[in-house]
Amino acid sequence: MRTVHVSLGNRSYAIKIAPGLIDRFGRECARLKLGTRCAIITDTNVGKRYAKAVFNSLATAGFSPSLIIVQPGEAAKSLKTVQSCYDQLAVHRLERKSFIVALGGGVVGDLAGFLAATYLRGLAFVQVPTTLLAQVDSSVGGKVGVNLNAGKNLVGAFYQPRLVACDLNTLKTLPDREFRAGLAEVIKYGIVYDAKLFAQIESDLPKLLRREPKMLAAVVARCCEIKAEVVGRDETEGGPRAILNFGHTIGHAIEAVSGYGRFLHGEAIAIGQVAVAKISSSILGLPERDLERIIRLFRRTGLPTTVRLRAQQGPKLFAAMRLDKKVSGGEIKFVLAKKIGKVEFGHKVPATVIEQALNLSAFASGSGATAPKRSEGRQPSTFN
Ligand code: ADP
Ligand code: ZN
Repeated sequence: MRTVHVSLGNRSYAIKIAPGLIDRFGRECARLKLGTRCAIITDTNVGKRYAKAVFNSLATAGFSPSLIIVQPGEAAKSLKTVQSCYDQLAVHRLERKSFIVALGGGVVGDLAGFLAATYLRGLAFVQVPTTLLAQVDSSVGGKVGVNLNAGKNLVGAFYQPRLVACDLNTLKTLPDREFRAGLAEVIKYGIVYDAKLFAQIESDLPKLLRREPKMLAAVVARCCEIKAEVVGRDETEGGPRAILNFGHTIGHAIEAVSGYGRFLHGEAIAIGQVAVAKISSSILGLPERDLERIIRLFRRTGLPTTVRLRAQQGPKLFAAMRLDKKVSGGEIKFVLAKKIGKVEFGHKVPATVIEQALNLSAFASGSGATAPKRSEGRQPSTFN
């Protein structure tokens, strides 16, 4: 088992990473000195595969779990679901000492974390992330929340879990498209922080795509270490944590203008990262060779690297970028790469450079998205 420590004073916690961790999960929770009662929050897809094992593991360790199941997908991150879950927590009589277990991907983690942060003014919270994206990104760092009609993640909190338990075996059942989308965040860590990790992904990509346990363990642990280091220095995103937003300002805008659901988050930020890498090469001198390596790695991973937007979507894209939570004083600031493994944040970028990077003028009359590149044994899959 690998353990990564997230150092945040008295809110510090461990991320444990191993295959088969769910079977030991109850014992891991028992070390935390939590109350007896707990609620496992999961969705139907994950619940049918893993809820029983988590439930039994907790019960065997002496806890009294109850199960709350929500629909899969982003729509579950709503105040309506929150309301229904609060009602169920009350029915199951959760108390101040009880705890909440998030069993699922990023959606379940954000929702369950929000419930934990707010129910009875805060219950202890434990994450069991089951997607690659959640294991390397969303379960670490304490951002929890739900969406409003006006935008994603507009209501929420910073609320740290007491433990994150990554069972690598759960990744075996993750759909191919979801797995590849998670790799977009993994590649991001290489670009923003760790040139060695980037090179390792380049050379071991086939093993990673086959989900070989050793590779997964090494990569998930390294990504968690990086996120823990960055979050440990800047818990609430005043400064250095911003580097983790590489590719996200454009990625979030692409998600918004192309209608949520057409691209997975990882796919949208793959396009966003390629665009900011192009911007980086034109205004920060990112070497041409590094730009090529970045584009090639996303392509080999089977992720989209470009999007064709209709003429009227250009202004919408800029409007969406200005709405991004990271914008302050109306100014869009970008994280740009100096070279693979080193980025800088706080760069202002002229609109024309953004348009060029996204090929907005050239494709202004096109329609729909370019078909994503496929390679390395990728099964055909739809992108909308
Ligand atoms: P993310 O972690 O990418 O934000 P979600 O929480 O929306 O994503 O999960 C993506 C989809 O994958 C959902 O439909 C969810 O039910 C499903 N899912 C999550 N984990 C697993 C798993 N280990 N095996 C199979 N399906 C999973
Ligand atoms: Zn992301």
